[in-house]
Amino acid sequence: MKLSIPNLVACGSCGARIRPHHVCPKCGHYKGNLVIEPENLA
Ligand SMILES: [Zn+2]
Repeated sequence: MKLSIPNLVACGSCGARIRPHHVCPKCGHYKGNLVIEPENLA
């Protein structure tokens, strides 16, 4: 199977498309918990 687009899931916190089992890079949440500080806060 050739998939050019990786399987993405919606972040449960901000709704951004993220890779499964990865911390959301936009809001820093993983499985509903804030695990890192978001880097893109304006
Ligand atoms: Zn998020």
